[in-house]
Amino acid sequence: EKKALEAYRTVEPVTSAGIRVEVAANLGSLAEIPAALEAGAMGVGLFRTEFLFMERKTLPTEDEQAEVYTRLAEAFAPYPVVIRTLDIGGDKPITGVDFEHEDNPFLGWRGIRMCLERPDIFKPQLRALLRASVVGNVKVLIPMIADGSEVREVRRLFEECRDELRPEGTAFGTFELGVMIETPAAVFLAAELAQQVDFFSIGTNDLTQYVMAADRLNPKVASLNRAEHPAVLRAISATCKAAKAANIWIGVCGEAAARQDLTGFFIENGVTELSMSSTSIPRTKQAITRF
Ligand code: PEP
Ligand code: MG
Repeated sequence: EKKALEAYRTVEPVTSAGIRVEVAANLGSLAEIPAALEAGAMGVGLFRTEFLFMERKTLPTEDEQAEVYTRLAEAFAPYPVVIRTLDIGGDKPITGVDFEHEDNPFLGWRGIRMCLERPDIFKPQLRALLRASVVGNVKVLIPMIADGSEVREVRRLFEECRDELRPEGTAFGTFELGVMIETPAAVFLAAELAQQVDFFSIGTNDLTQYVMAADRLNPKVASLNRAEHPAVLRAISATCKAAKAANIWIGVCGEAAARQDLTGFFIENGVTELSMSSTSIPRTKQAITRF
């Protein structure tokens, strides 16, 4: 059984109908790269940059970040690496950001909300991403989007960064820009958001908790916190439909991406990338080839 799964390492999974699906890895650090490659990851569908900012006394510098993102991109080239901008909040504080107490941190000042108010923290990351994009396979993903204005603001900040990098003579590249679909607002706005970005990535962990109004960390509401709940599946289908209508690609990067009982559902809805922890990759590739 294990041997049979190992054979999937080098397989590019294609369904019986001929649909190619990219099976990528969710990573939090460069140390996890060898295991991802070993498992047969076809790139990175979610690089959680918050781990670079956590458990340290100072914020990572632009240079430090540029090096990490560049090394990540180089390790997987020519496969894509989707790097998510800082997604941190009151439940996961970092040194250098003053998080005031919030009664509802999951509904509070987190992810893009915090970043847009702290360009001193956000812009070094954006500049580092622009620099790493020289490798050619970087895609940038914005978390916790709930309004189109947030995407416009990110684009404006990227433009500012380019205007700063040019006179410095610092090389930078181009990249696809995408948004996480993980709030009900983003689902309802999917048609508009799809006009603003190059791709969507569905974060089923947060999408489930927000659609079901059931804290993802509270065991007392675990029975409601199910990605296969019809309410969540309809939210996913609606998002996929909007992506298809706008002709942009769509991936899934929450835990549900690795669920074999949902593989067929995702593919039928037009999902072309599933990103998960490395250990789930061979099994998911197998499920795709069997679909
Ligand atoms: C998600 O919300 O599904 C997701 C992938 O992001 P995170 O688990 O880091 O919040
Ligand atoms: Mg999330």
